[in-house]
Amino acid sequence: MKRAKRLEAIPPYVFAEMDKRKRELVAKGIDVIAMGIGDPDLPTPEWIVEAMGRAIHKPAYHRYPDYEGATFFRTAVTAWYHRRFEVKLDPGSEVMALIGSKEGLAHLIWAFVDPGDIVLIPDPAYPVYRIHTLLAGGEPYLMPLRPENGFLPDFEAIPEAVRRRAKILFINYPNNPTSAVADLGFFRRAVDFARRYGLLLCHDNAYAEMTYDGFVAPSVLAVDGAKDVAIEFYSFSKPFNMTGWRIAAAVGNAEAVAALGIIKTNTDSGQFTAIQEAAASAFDHDPETFFARMNRVYAGRRDTFVDGMNALGWKLEKPKGTFYVWVPVPPGQTSSGFARLCLERAGVVVTPGVAYGPHGEGFIRVALTVDERRIREAIDRLAAAGVRYS
Ligand code: PLP
Repeated sequence: MKRAKRLEAIPPYVFAEMDKRKRELVAKGIDVIAMGIGDPDLPTPEWIVEAMGRAIHKPAYHRYPDYEGATFFRTAVTAWYHRRFEVKLDPGSEVMALIGSKEGLAHLIWAFVDPGDIVLIPDPAYPVYRIHTLLAGGEPYLMPLRPENGFLPDFEAIPEAVRRRAKILFINYPNNPTSAVADLGFFRRAVDFARRYGLLLCHDNAYAEMTYDGFVAPSVLAVDGAKDVAIEFYSFSKPFNMTGWRIAAAVGNAEAVAALGIIKTNTDSGQFTAIQEAAASAFDHDPETFFARMNRVYAGRRDTFVDGMNALGWKLEKPKGTFYVWVPVPPGQTSSGFARLCLERAGVVVTPGVAYGPHGEGFIRVALTVDERRIREAIDRLAAAGVRYS
C-alpha cells in the first residue's frame, strides 16, 4: 500500500498528538489539568439542546439535508449578522451552512488554490490554513505576527512578487493562538490590500463573541465594500459551547460562497438539518446575555491565570479576546521543551507555540478550559515544580 506523496508534507495533527499523550498519562492515573485544546468545558445552553430534542423527531430531517444549508438556518444567520455586526447578507447567495468552520476553511482552499499558487497565512495560526494549502499543492507564505505589531501581520512587508502570485489572504481576529484582537481599521487595511492584488480575503471569525474589558469584535464584512473581496467564517463552536455539534456558516462574497459550494456538494451532503435547527435557535434566546455570562467566567479564569503567572515572574497582559493566553517561555527554553516540562513535572497540558508556525517558537498557548480552582492548582503545581520566568 502506498500513501499519496502529499501526505509526506503533513506533520502529525498537533492536537491529536497531545490528546494521545494526555490519555497515556491519565491511563497511568496521573491527574492531568487539560489546558491544551480550545474546547469549552461548559455545556451547550439548554434551549439549544431542547431545540435539538424537538428537531430530531421530525422525519423530514432524517433525509438528506439541503446542500447549502436549510433556508431557516441561512435566514437566522443573516438576521444575526444584521443585529450583531450591522452587516446585510443575502441568505440565498451569501450564506452557507458548514460542518464546522474547519471543514469550510479547508474546502475553501481547494476551491481557490491551484498547484503553485501562494496563500498568505499568519504565522502563528490555526494549522488548517497551512496544511490544506500544502495538500492542495499551494505554497504557504507565512506572515509573521510579532508582539511589537500587536500580533497583526504587516502587509507592506510582503514582497511584490509574492503579492502577485497570491490567491487567498487569511486573517483571524480575535486571534488563535496569540489572543490578539483587531479593530475595523485593521480590517479596512486588509480589504484594501486584498482589493489591490485581486485576493480573496478570508476572515476566520471563530472567536467573535469571546471578548473582554469592553472590547467588541467586528466582522470584516462591516468594512464598506468588503463583500467584493471577503468571505468570513462564523462558528457556533466556541460562543455556544457547541464544538461537538459541528456547525458553522460561511458568509460574504457570493462568488466565493458558490465556489466553496462546488467543493462541498461533491464532498459532503451538508449538515444534519436537526443540528441546523438547533443552531438557528441559538439566536432566539438572548444570546448577548449568554455571551456576557460566558465571558465573565472566562475573564475570571484569565485574571486568575495571568495574576498567577505574573506572581511567578511573568509580565503578561490580560488578553481582550479568545479564551487563550499566549505565554512567552522562560529565556533559554524552547516552546516544545517548556510544554513538555509543564506536562511531565506539573501534569499541566499546554500547547507549544511552534505547533502554530515558526513564529510561535518562544511561546506556549494556554486554553482557559478549566475552572478557576483548577487554574490555581495548575499555577501551584508549576510553582512547586520550580517554574519561573527568569
Ligand atoms: N478557526 C480557528 C481560529 C479555531 O481556533 C478553530 C478551532 O479551534 C476553528 C476555526 C474550528 O472551528 P469549528 O469547530 O467551527 O470547526
